[in-house]
Amino acid sequence: MNRILVTGGAGFIGSHLCERLLKDGNEVICLDNYFTGAKRNIIHLMDNPYFELVRHDVCSPYFAEVDQIYNLACPASPVHYQYNPIKTVKTSVMGALNMLGLAKRVNAKILQASTSEVYGDPTVHPQVESYWGNVNPIGERSCYDEGKRCAETLFVNYHKQNKVKIKIIRIFNTYGPNMHLCDGRVVSNFIVQALQNKDITVAGNGMQTRSFQYVDDLIEGMVRMMNTEDGFTGPVNIGNPGEFTILELAEKVISLTHSKSKIKFIPLPSDDPMQRKPDISLAQEKLNNWKPTIQLEEGLGKTIEYFKKILDI
Ligand code: NAD
Ligand code: UDP
Repeated sequence: MNRILVTGGAGFIGSHLCERLLKDGNEVICLDNYFTGAKRNIIHLMDNPYFELVRHDVCSPYFAEVDQIYNLACPASPVHYQYNPIKTVKTSVMGALNMLGLAKRVNAKILQASTSEVYGDPTVHPQVESYWGNVNPIGERSCYDEGKRCAETLFVNYHKQNKVKIKIIRIFNTYGPNMHLCDGRVVSNFIVQALQNKDITVAGNGMQTRSFQYVDDLIEGMVRMMNTEDGFTGPVNIGNPGEFTILELAEKVISLTHSKSKIKFIPLPSDDPMQRKPDISLAQEKLNNWKPTIQLEEGLGKTIEYFKKILDI
Protein backbone atom coordinates (compact mmCIF):
# COMPACT_ATOMS: atom_id res chain seq x y z
CA MET A 1 0.00 0.00 0.00
CA ASN A 2 1.37 3.43 -0.98
CA ARG A 3 0.58 6.60 0.94
CA ILE A 4 -0.24 9.19 -1.71
CA LEU A 5 -0.68 12.97 -1.42
CA VAL A 6 -3.03 14.59 -3.95
CA THR A 7 -2.84 18.40 -3.91
CA GLY A 8 -5.99 19.98 -5.36
CA GLY A 9 -7.70 16.70 -4.48
CA ALA A 10 -11.13 18.27 -3.91
CA GLY A 11 -11.20 19.74 -7.42
CA PHE A 12 -12.65 18.29 -10.59
CA ILE A 13 -9.73 16.04 -11.66
CA GLY A 14 -8.35 15.58 -8.14
CA SER A 15 -11.59 14.07 -6.84
CA HIS A 16 -11.61 11.42 -9.59
CA LEU A 17 -7.94 10.70 -8.91
CA CYS A 18 -8.50 10.26 -5.13
CA GLU A 19 -11.32 7.83 -5.87
CA ARG A 20 -9.20 5.81 -8.29
CA LEU A 21 -6.17 5.66 -5.97
CA LEU A 22 -8.33 4.43 -3.08
CA LYS A 23 -9.90 1.80 -5.35
CA ASP A 24 -6.38 0.60 -6.22
CA GLY A 25 -5.73 -0.03 -2.51
CA ASN A 26 -3.71 3.06 -1.58
CA GLU A 27 -3.92 5.43 1.36
CA VAL A 28 -4.77 8.95 0.15
CA ILE A 29 -4.19 12.38 1.68
CA CYS A 30 -6.30 14.93 -0.16
CA LEU A 31 -4.99 18.48 0.32
CA ASP A 32 -6.99 21.50 -0.83
CA ASN A 33 -7.73 25.13 0.05
CA TYR A 34 -11.20 24.91 -1.61
CA PHE A 35 -10.60 27.87 -3.93
CA THR A 36 -12.33 26.09 -6.80
CA GLY A 37 -12.74 22.66 -5.26
CA ALA A 38 -15.56 21.49 -3.01
CA LYS A 39 -16.12 18.98 -0.24
CA ARG A 40 -19.13 17.79 -2.27
CA ASN A 41 -16.69 16.18 -4.74
CA ILE A 42 -15.07 13.93 -2.14
CA ILE A 43 -17.75 13.59 0.53
CA HIS A 44 -18.47 10.02 -0.58
CA LEU A 45 -14.87 9.08 0.29
CA MET A 46 -14.97 10.46 3.85
CA ASP A 47 -16.06 7.17 5.45
CA ASN A 48 -13.04 5.37 4.03
CA PRO A 49 -10.44 5.00 6.82
CA TYR A 50 -7.66 5.21 4.22
CA PHE A 51 -8.81 8.69 3.09
CA GLU A 52 -7.69 11.85 4.88
CA LEU A 53 -8.69 15.43 4.11
CA VAL A 54 -6.39 18.38 4.83
CA ARG A 55 -7.33 22.06 4.43
CA HIS A 56 -4.07 23.67 3.35
CA ASP A 57 -2.70 26.15 0.82
CA VAL A 58 0.24 24.83 -1.22
CA CYS A 59 1.85 28.27 -1.09
CA SER A 60 2.89 27.29 2.45
CA PRO A 61 5.11 24.27 3.11
CA TYR A 62 3.42 21.03 4.12
CA PHE A 63 4.99 17.98 5.64
CA ALA A 64 3.83 14.36 5.58
CA GLU A 65 5.52 11.00 5.11
CA VAL A 66 4.31 9.95 1.67
CA ASP A 67 5.50 7.69 -1.15
CA GLN A 68 3.96 9.62 -4.04
CA ILE A 69 2.67 13.14 -4.71
CA TYR A 70 0.29 14.20 -7.47
CA ASN A 71 0.54 18.00 -7.67
CA LEU A 72 -2.77 19.29 -9.04
CA ALA A 73 -3.42 22.35 -6.87
CA CYS A 74 -4.09 25.30 -9.20
CA PRO A 75 -7.23 26.88 -10.62
CA ALA A 76 -7.56 25.66 -14.22
CA SER A 77 -10.43 27.65 -15.71
CA PRO A 78 -9.43 30.98 -17.31
CA VAL A 79 -12.19 32.74 -15.31
CA HIS A 80 -10.77 31.47 -12.03
CA TYR A 81 -7.06 31.75 -12.72
CA GLN A 82 -7.50 35.32 -13.98
CA TYR A 83 -9.50 36.33 -10.88
CA ASN A 84 -6.27 36.75 -8.87
CA PRO A 85 -3.36 36.36 -11.30
CA ILE A 86 -0.67 36.93 -8.66
CA LYS A 87 -2.12 34.17 -6.52
CA THR A 88 -2.20 31.89 -9.59
CA VAL A 89 1.54 32.40 -10.16
CA LYS A 90 2.20 31.83 -6.46
CA THR A 91 0.15 28.64 -6.44
CA SER A 92 1.94 27.27 -9.50
CA VAL A 93 5.46 28.28 -8.57
CA MET A 94 5.50 28.24 -4.75
CA GLY A 95 3.22 25.19 -4.77
CA ALA A 96 5.70 23.36 -7.01
CA LEU A 97 8.64 24.47 -4.84
CA ASN A 98 6.97 23.33 -1.63
CA MET A 99 5.87 19.98 -3.04
CA LEU A 100 9.26 19.34 -4.67
CA GLY A 101 10.92 20.17 -1.35
CA LEU A 102 8.65 17.65 0.34
CA ALA A 103 9.38 15.03 -2.35
CA LYS A 104 13.10 15.59 -1.84
CA ARG A 105 12.91 15.28 1.96
CA VAL A 106 10.83 12.11 2.03
CA ASN A 107 12.16 10.61 -1.23
CA ALA A 108 8.71 10.52 -2.82
CA LYS A 109 7.93 10.31 -6.52
CA ILE A 110 6.13 13.45 -7.70
CA LEU A 111 3.88 14.06 -10.71
CA GLN A 112 3.13 17.54 -11.99
CA ALA A 113 -0.23 18.27 -13.65
CA SER A 114 1.09 20.57 -16.37
CA THR A 115 -0.97 21.73 -19.28
CA SER A 116 -1.29 22.13 -23.04
CA GLU A 117 -1.26 25.88 -22.20
CA VAL A 118 2.56 25.66 -22.08
CA TYR A 119 2.26 25.61 -25.90
CA GLY A 120 0.31 28.92 -25.80
CA ASP A 121 -1.27 29.75 -29.19
CA PRO A 122 0.62 27.00 -31.01
CA THR A 123 2.18 27.38 -34.44
CA VAL A 124 2.92 23.64 -34.59
CA HIS A 125 -0.11 21.41 -35.06
CA PRO A 126 -0.75 18.89 -33.60
CA GLN A 127 1.39 19.73 -30.58
CA VAL A 128 4.36 17.47 -29.85
CA GLU A 129 6.27 17.55 -26.56
CA SER A 130 9.41 18.87 -28.30
CA TYR A 131 7.57 22.08 -29.35
CA TRP A 132 8.59 25.02 -27.14
CA GLY A 133 5.34 26.94 -27.49
CA ASN A 134 4.16 30.42 -28.33
CA VAL A 135 3.18 32.16 -25.09
CA ASN A 136 2.59 35.88 -24.50
CA PRO A 137 4.46 36.46 -21.21
CA ILE A 138 2.45 39.58 -20.32
CA GLY A 139 -1.02 38.60 -21.56
CA GLU A 140 -4.23 37.68 -19.69
CA ARG A 141 -3.35 33.99 -19.69
CA SER A 142 0.31 34.39 -18.73
CA CYS A 143 -0.21 33.97 -14.97
CA TYR A 144 -1.32 30.41 -15.69
CA ASP A 145 0.81 29.60 -18.76
CA GLU A 146 4.07 31.00 -17.40
CA GLY A 147 3.33 29.72 -13.89
CA LYS A 148 2.97 26.21 -15.30
CA ARG A 149 6.07 26.63 -17.49
CA CYS A 150 8.10 27.74 -14.47
CA ALA A 151 6.77 24.75 -12.51
CA GLU A 152 8.06 22.45 -15.27
CA THR A 153 11.46 24.19 -15.03
CA LEU A 154 11.52 23.61 -11.27
CA PHE A 155 10.59 19.95 -11.68
CA VAL A 156 13.28 19.30 -14.26
CA ASN A 157 15.93 21.04 -12.14
CA TYR A 158 15.00 19.28 -8.89
CA HIS A 159 15.43 16.09 -10.89
CA LYS A 160 18.83 17.09 -12.32
CA GLN A 161 20.23 18.76 -9.21
CA ASN A 162 18.65 16.75 -6.40
CA LYS A 163 17.73 13.46 -8.12
CA VAL A 164 14.06 13.87 -7.23
CA LYS A 165 11.93 11.31 -9.10
CA ILE A 166 9.67 13.47 -11.26
CA LYS A 167 6.92 12.92 -13.83
CA ILE A 168 5.41 15.71 -15.93
CA ILE A 169 2.17 15.34 -17.86
CA ARG A 170 0.69 18.01 -20.12
CA ILE A 171 -3.06 17.71 -19.85
CA PHE A 172 -5.27 18.81 -22.76
CA ASN A 173 -8.84 20.11 -22.22
CA THR A 174 -10.51 17.60 -19.91
CA TYR A 175 -14.17 17.50 -18.88
CA GLY A 176 -16.60 15.32 -16.95
CA PRO A 177 -18.64 15.02 -13.75
CA ASN A 178 -17.52 17.07 -10.72
CA MET A 179 -16.78 20.16 -12.79
CA HIS A 180 -18.07 23.15 -10.86
CA LEU A 181 -21.45 24.52 -11.99
CA CYS A 182 -19.75 27.93 -12.42
CA ASP A 183 -16.44 26.50 -13.62
CA GLY A 184 -16.49 28.78 -16.67
CA ARG A 185 -14.82 26.32 -19.06
CA VAL A 186 -16.51 25.66 -22.32
CA VAL A 187 -17.94 22.15 -21.85
CA SER A 188 -19.59 22.81 -18.49
CA ASN A 189 -20.72 26.29 -19.61
CA PHE A 190 -22.44 24.95 -22.74
CA ILE A 191 -24.09 22.03 -20.93
CA VAL A 192 -25.41 24.20 -18.09
CA GLN A 193 -26.66 26.82 -20.57
CA ALA A 194 -28.32 24.18 -22.76
CA LEU A 195 -30.02 22.44 -19.83
CA GLN A 196 -31.49 25.79 -18.77
CA ASN A 197 -32.47 26.74 -22.34
CA LYS A 198 -30.28 29.83 -22.07
CA ASP A 199 -28.17 31.27 -24.90
CA ILE A 200 -25.03 29.26 -25.68
CA THR A 201 -22.14 31.73 -25.49
CA VAL A 202 -19.76 30.97 -28.37
CA ALA A 203 -16.61 33.11 -28.25
CA GLY A 204 -15.43 34.74 -31.49
CA ASN A 205 -16.72 33.00 -34.62
CA GLY A 206 -16.45 29.60 -32.92
CA MET A 207 -13.90 28.36 -35.45
CA GLN A 208 -11.15 27.94 -32.85
CA THR A 209 -10.54 24.27 -32.04
CA ARG A 210 -9.98 22.20 -28.92
CA SER A 211 -9.51 18.46 -28.29
CA PHE A 212 -11.72 17.27 -25.47
CA GLN A 213 -10.75 14.41 -23.19
CA TYR A 214 -13.11 12.61 -20.82
CA VAL A 215 -11.77 12.56 -17.26
CA ASP A 216 -11.58 8.73 -16.91
CA ASP A 217 -9.10 8.55 -19.80
CA LEU A 218 -6.93 11.20 -18.15
CA ILE A 219 -6.92 9.42 -14.78
CA GLU A 220 -5.80 6.18 -16.43
CA GLY A 221 -2.97 8.04 -18.20
CA MET A 222 -1.93 9.83 -14.99
CA VAL A 223 -1.70 6.64 -12.94
CA ARG A 224 0.19 4.86 -15.72
CA MET A 225 2.63 7.78 -15.93
CA MET A 226 3.28 7.79 -12.18
CA ASN A 227 4.13 4.10 -12.39
CA THR A 228 6.55 4.24 -15.34
CA GLU A 229 10.20 3.39 -14.67
CA ASP A 230 12.11 6.12 -12.86
CA GLY A 231 14.22 7.10 -15.90
CA PHE A 232 11.17 8.42 -17.77
CA THR A 233 10.26 11.91 -16.58
CA GLY A 234 8.21 13.24 -19.50
CA PRO A 235 6.81 15.72 -20.28
CA VAL A 236 4.16 13.66 -21.98
CA ASN A 237 0.92 14.87 -23.58
CA ILE A 238 -2.29 13.32 -22.21
CA GLY A 239 -5.30 14.24 -24.28
CA ASN A 240 -7.81 13.05 -26.84
CA PRO A 241 -6.67 13.86 -30.39
CA GLY A 242 -10.28 14.26 -31.65
CA GLU A 243 -10.38 17.95 -32.67
CA PHE A 244 -13.60 20.00 -32.79
CA THR A 245 -14.45 23.64 -33.39
CA ILE A 246 -16.21 25.37 -30.51
CA LEU A 247 -19.21 25.83 -32.79
CA GLU A 248 -19.35 22.07 -33.41
CA LEU A 249 -19.24 21.52 -29.65
CA ALA A 250 -22.14 23.95 -29.15
CA GLU A 251 -24.22 22.15 -31.79
CA LYS A 252 -23.48 18.72 -30.29
CA VAL A 253 -24.48 19.89 -26.81
CA ILE A 254 -27.73 21.43 -28.08
CA SER A 255 -28.61 18.24 -29.91
CA LEU A 256 -27.71 15.87 -27.03
CA THR A 257 -29.70 17.89 -24.49
CA HIS A 258 -32.66 18.49 -26.91
CA SER A 259 -32.34 22.12 -25.87
CA LYS A 260 -34.20 25.15 -27.17
CA SER A 261 -31.07 27.28 -26.67
CA LYS A 262 -29.83 29.57 -29.43
CA ILE A 263 -26.20 30.32 -30.17
CA LYS A 264 -25.02 33.79 -29.12
CA PHE A 265 -21.63 35.02 -30.34
CA ILE A 266 -19.58 36.88 -27.71
CA PRO A 267 -16.16 38.59 -28.05
CA LEU A 268 -13.14 36.32 -28.23
CA PRO A 269 -10.97 36.75 -25.10
CA SER A 270 -7.43 38.02 -25.74
CA ASP A 271 -4.74 35.44 -26.55
CA ASP A 272 -7.37 32.70 -26.93
CA PRO A 273 -5.49 29.87 -28.72
CA MET A 274 -6.83 29.24 -32.25
CA GLN A 275 -6.13 25.52 -32.38
CA ARG A 276 -5.19 22.72 -30.06
CA LYS A 277 -4.71 18.99 -30.57
CA PRO A 278 -2.28 16.65 -28.85
CA ASP A 279 0.15 14.35 -30.59
CA ILE A 280 -0.08 11.34 -28.25
CA SER A 281 2.56 9.08 -29.85
CA LEU A 282 4.85 9.43 -26.83
CA ALA A 283 2.06 8.50 -24.39
CA GLN A 284 1.21 5.47 -26.51
CA GLU A 285 4.84 4.38 -26.58
CA LYS A 286 5.68 4.97 -22.91
CA LEU A 287 2.37 4.34 -21.15
CA ASN A 288 1.73 0.80 -22.27
CA ASN A 289 -0.23 1.76 -25.38
CA TRP A 290 -2.45 4.23 -23.49
CA LYS A 291 -5.04 5.97 -25.62
CA PRO A 292 -8.40 7.62 -24.93
CA THR A 293 -11.33 5.21 -25.06
CA ILE A 294 -14.27 7.58 -24.51
CA GLN A 295 -15.23 9.68 -27.49
CA LEU A 296 -16.91 13.08 -27.28
CA GLU A 297 -20.59 12.14 -27.56
CA GLU A 298 -20.33 9.39 -24.93
CA GLY A 299 -18.40 11.63 -22.53
CA LEU A 300 -20.80 14.52 -23.08
CA GLY A 301 -23.71 12.17 -22.32
CA LYS A 302 -22.21 11.21 -18.94
CA THR A 303 -21.44 14.85 -18.13
CA ILE A 304 -24.96 15.97 -19.09
CA GLU A 305 -26.41 13.35 -16.72
CA TYR A 306 -24.21 14.74 -13.91
CA PHE A 307 -25.32 18.34 -14.46
CA LYS A 308 -28.98 17.28 -14.70
CA LYS A 309 -28.63 15.83 -11.19
CA ILE A 310 -26.88 18.94 -9.87
CA LEU A 311 -29.50 21.22 -11.42
CA ASP A 312 -32.30 18.88 -10.32
CA ILE A 313 -33.69 18.56 -13.86
P1 NAD B 1 -10.11 22.61 -10.47
O1 NAD B 1 -10.12 24.08 -10.37
O2 NAD B 1 -11.40 21.88 -10.39
O3 NAD B 1 -9.15 21.98 -9.37
C1 NAD B 1 -8.05 22.66 -8.80
C2 NAD B 1 -8.04 22.34 -7.31
O4 NAD B 1 -6.90 22.99 -6.71
C3 NAD B 1 -9.27 22.89 -6.58
O5 NAD B 1 -9.77 21.92 -5.70
C4 NAD B 1 -8.73 24.11 -5.82
O6 NAD B 1 -9.48 24.43 -4.68
C5 NAD B 1 -7.33 23.66 -5.52
N1 NAD B 1 -6.41 24.77 -5.27
C6 NAD B 1 -6.26 25.92 -6.01
N2 NAD B 1 -5.32 26.69 -5.47
C7 NAD B 1 -4.85 26.04 -4.38
C8 NAD B 1 -3.86 26.33 -3.39
N3 NAD B 1 -3.16 27.47 -3.43
N4 NAD B 1 -3.64 25.43 -2.40
C9 NAD B 1 -4.35 24.27 -2.35
N5 NAD B 1 -5.29 23.94 -3.24
C10 NAD B 1 -5.54 24.81 -4.25
O7 NAD B 1 -9.34 22.26 -11.83
P2 NAD B 1 -9.03 20.86 -12.53
O8 NAD B 1 -9.56 20.91 -13.90
O9 NAD B 1 -9.39 19.74 -11.65
O10 NAD B 1 -7.44 20.95 -12.65
C11 NAD B 1 -6.56 20.22 -11.81
C12 NAD B 1 -5.13 20.40 -12.29
O11 NAD B 1 -5.01 19.91 -13.63
C13 NAD B 1 -4.67 21.86 -12.31
O12 NAD B 1 -3.34 21.92 -11.89
C14 NAD B 1 -4.77 22.23 -13.77
O13 NAD B 1 -3.85 23.23 -14.13
C15 NAD B 1 -4.45 20.91 -14.46
N6 NAD B 1 -5.03 20.88 -15.81
C16 NAD B 1 -6.37 20.69 -16.00
C17 NAD B 1 -6.89 20.69 -17.28
C18 NAD B 1 -8.35 20.48 -17.57
O14 NAD B 1 -8.74 20.54 -18.73
N7 NAD B 1 -9.19 20.19 -16.63
C19 NAD B 1 -6.04 20.90 -18.38
C20 NAD B 1 -4.69 21.12 -18.13
C21 NAD B 1 -4.19 21.08 -16.85
N1 UDP C 1 -15.47 29.43 -24.83
C1 UDP C 1 -16.68 29.78 -25.41
N2 UDP C 1 -17.74 30.00 -24.59
C2 UDP C 1 -17.69 29.84 -23.25
C3 UDP C 1 -16.45 29.47 -22.65
C4 UDP C 1 -15.36 29.26 -23.48
O1 UDP C 1 -16.78 29.89 -26.63
O2 UDP C 1 -18.71 30.06 -22.58
C5 UDP C 1 -14.32 29.19 -25.72
C6 UDP C 1 -13.03 29.86 -25.28
O3 UDP C 1 -12.97 31.20 -25.76
C7 UDP C 1 -12.00 28.96 -25.94
C8 UDP C 1 -12.63 27.59 -25.86
O4 UDP C 1 -14.03 27.81 -25.69
O5 UDP C 1 -11.83 29.31 -27.29
C9 UDP C 1 -12.13 26.73 -24.70
O6 UDP C 1 -12.23 27.52 -23.53
P1 UDP C 1 -11.95 26.94 -22.07
O7 UDP C 1 -12.04 28.08 -21.13
O8 UDP C 1 -12.80 25.76 -21.82
O9 UDP C 1 -10.45 26.38 -22.13
P2 UDP C 1 -9.08 26.92 -22.76
O10 UDP C 1 -9.31 28.17 -23.54
O11 UDP C 1 -8.21 27.14 -21.59
O12 UDP C 1 -8.65 25.81 -23.64
